[in-house]
Amino acid sequence: MIPYGRQHINQADIDAVLQVLQSDYLTQGPAVPAFEQRLCSLTGASHAIAMNSATSALHLACLALGVNSASRVWTSPISFVASANAARYCGAQIDFVDVEAETGNVCIQALRTKLEQARAKDALPNVVIAVHLAGLSCDMQQLRHLSAEFDFRIIEDASHAVGGQYLGQAVGCCQYSDITVFSFHPVKIITTAEGGMALTNQPELAQQMQLLRSHGITREESQMTEPAHGPWYYQQLQLGYNYRMTDLQAALGLSQSTRLANIIARRQHLARRYQQLLAGLPLDCPAQPENILSSYHLFIIRLHDKAKRKAVFEGLRQAGIGVNVHYIPIHTQPYYQQLGFDWGDFPIAEDFYERIISLPLYPELTEQQQDFIREQLSAWL
Ligand SMILES: *Cc1c(COP(=O)(O)O)cnc(C)c1O
Repeated sequence: MIPYGRQHINQADIDAVLQVLQSDYLTQGPAVPAFEQRLCSLTGASHAIAMNSATSALHLACLALGVNSASRVWTSPISFVASANAARYCGAQIDFVDVEAETGNVCIQALRTKLEQARAKDALPNVVIAVHLAGLSCDMQQLRHLSAEFDFRIIEDASHAVGGQYLGQAVGCCQYSDITVFSFHPVKIITTAEGGMALTNQPELAQQMQLLRSHGITREESQMTEPAHGPWYYQQLQLGYNYRMTDLQAALGLSQSTRLANIIARRQHLARRYQQLLAGLPLDCPAQPENILSSYHLFIIRLHDKAKRKAVFEGLRQAGIGVNVHYIPIHTQPYYQQLGFDWGDFPIAEDFYERIISLPLYPELTEQQQDFIREQLSAWL
């Protein structure tokens, strides 16, 4: 089976992990801060906080921004459930904003309309979590304008968009947001097996996330309520978690990150090639807005005839092509239906869902495999 996504592991990655295994520290050693520093230099953000998953990073991003049971958080229905769950961990009320048909990213016009309605009811969101679907950044400049006008904070769920660019800057620079979150799950752009990262330019947010990632405990005397009793002393200031990344994971991520530019170039090459191969078939390839460079975590095609989606999907799977669907709209999941959402609430997102298929895309996918995928696709369409 050709998978839809796959990690790229080389000997340098293996050596990096083995070196940590033979060292003094398996966790909380030197690799975690080195990986954080690397992500700062790759993105231009001033603080990076490594965690055991993007889900954990989203949770702590919400907590750092003060999200609690009195808060309202809005996100996109076309995402992995973790984008919305993060707000629910904090007890917040969640709501969704419909997407653009061409990208599956949050629709700025729909957001403005919903914000105006919410202002009239005095129910504006505290935080909006923007999801960069498939690695294509949302329109962050427009989002920033709205956040100033309607007074909400912004988290970028850039789980897909490591290595992407928006208006000439790296996704993760946080110029237009408070916090950006990356995922290093094996199907994503670079991997640490499990792992995530929160990036921010605001020192108070960084400090809060650092504290919460390790039980709410500090060893910094400047943060303590009384002088340290001695070198052993620490204080628990808040109720935190164990969301730490291990040194094994960070060493893998550090090694992977040296190839980030090559990985992105390869994904973009394969994506351009798909665009050419699939031209003329009754489907739309991912939109490529000007000034936004997608990292192409996913290559999501939209069939013109959604009645054919199931047969095409099954035909490709039978041919050994591991296609997938990203995503089932979050608001239609039973858990979210229990909160009062239902089919029909976000019609563009639902229509998007009904016509999409994610084609295989990862660095080691070959051009021959792409040709085969094209052949099978056209046979089933
Ligand atoms: C993968 C993913 C996550 C969760 O990432 P983990 O590192 O597996 O916790 C969150 N949001 C989106 C959009 C994702 O694709």
